Amino acid sequence: MKILLCFLLLVSTCLAFGQKKQVCFSFDDLPVVSYGKSDTCFQKALIDKLINSLKKNKIPAIGFVNESKLYEKESLNTFQVELLKSWIKNGLDLGNHTFAHPDYNATSYKDFTSDILKGEIITKHLLQRNGQEIKYFRHPFLHVGNTKAKGDSLTNFLSDHGYTLAPVTIDNEDYLFALAYHRANSKQDPNLMEKIGNDYLSYMEKKLIYYEKQANNLFGRNINQILLLHASYLNSDYVDSLAAIFLKNNYTFIRMDEALEDQAYKTEITRFGNWGISWLDRWALSKGKKGDFFKDEPESPDYIKKLAADD
Ligand SMILES: [Zn+2]
Repeated sequence: MKILLCFLLLVSTCLAFGQKKQVCFSFDDLPVVSYGKSDTCFQKALIDKLINSLKKNKIPAIGFVNESKLYEKESLNTFQVELLKSWIKNGLDLGNHTFAHPDYNATSYKDFTSDILKGEIITKHLLQRNGQEIKYFRHPFLHVGNTKAKGDSLTNFLSDHGYTLAPVTIDNEDYLFALAYHRANSKQDPNLMEKIGNDYLSYMEKKLIYYEKQANNLFGRNINQILLLHASYLNSDYVDSLAAIFLKNNYTFIRMDEALEDQAYKTEITRFGNWGISWLDRWALSKGKKGDFFKDEPESPDYIKKLAADD
């Protein structure tokens, strides 16, 4: 009996260590989240540093574009287009995040879908020039539609137009940290910037561990995770350290198509609401989980919320 127990322990330990952990990094609101800082040298340095960190860590990331950001009034801003080109030139993928980032829960189907089509023109062209197709769509605010009918009609529209939905499993408030970081930079406060950066990394590691636990609770195993980030100054400075956190937690980096090979992504969503949440939470709600199942989700520190809220 004792020998059998030892054997089982050995097998389960091997399984635990042998389990492949994989994550896809995705960046929203391309070409750049600059919080109004229009200095092109700053924006270029930000994107170059972000891309270099991704390349250095062999992260096959995808960026989701809001093409309204490519225009100045009516005319195309070639500098912004160049930022997208550098993304493609470095072997990274691009997807559609609508033209002007509307909220589907507050927008009609007709207006929302025309914004999707308006949002694919330049990106599609740039990808095609590189022999690639535009394939993925990311919902602004992760709002997929607040009723089943509204959600289904958008899903059908997207598949009719050749799009695959790009879900998010590791949802987080990187945008709050990024805004706080931007404000600390504007105040020329390097100590505060460093504190925000360090707190951001520990928050993100807690989020990773939390969503890994949620996947285990829901599927009895970890799943291919999809991380949501934004193309911000904070992430250009910290993506390298974020990658180190994932490596420390035994992750390898994969593309969106590889992530979606996980059968978990076929889980049906039957609950809809105004929420913009992780797909792990959507699946959990759809499987009837409530209350305690969602406890212990890491929160952004109060000082980050305050810094992000202050004008
Ligand atoms: Zn967005």
